Amino acid sequence: MTDTIFDKIIRREIPADIVYEDDDILAFKDIAPHAPVHVLFVPKRSLATLNDAGPQDAELLGKLLLAASAYAKREGFAEKGYRCLINCNADGGQTVFHLHLHLLAGRKLREPLG
Ligand code: 5GP
Repeated sequence: MTDTIFDKIIRREIPADIVYEDDDILAFKDIAPHAPVHVLFVPKRSLATLNDAGPQDAELLGKLLLAASAYAKREGFAEKGYRCLINCNADGGQTVFHLHLHLLAGRKLREPLG
């Protein structure tokens, strides 16, 4: 898989506003936020898209979701609500080909998703 901007952020080669880190995940604020809270949860292990995840990645995918909900609880907006989403490939709107989970919150998010 090719090196992406997120790999460079993980290696601290370019700056980001990092809000959470553990052995498997780095989370940082989106540079072009779509909501008052817009954080990207990125696995340190390189997977280009959700299509590249297999059964061996089930725990990692679960950790991404749990890291996002823990952040929402810590930051105090869990009860009010938030949205988690993963874009996959062109029709899904993916632009950075290193799997990541968007966490959006801080305002009433519009329906429908698309
Ligand atoms: P995607 O469209 O692939 O699901 O989401 C990629 C996200 O990464 C976009 O929301 C975009 O604003 C964000 N992004 C792209 N480049 C950078 C960067 O250099 N730093 C940060 N913090 N976010 C970025």
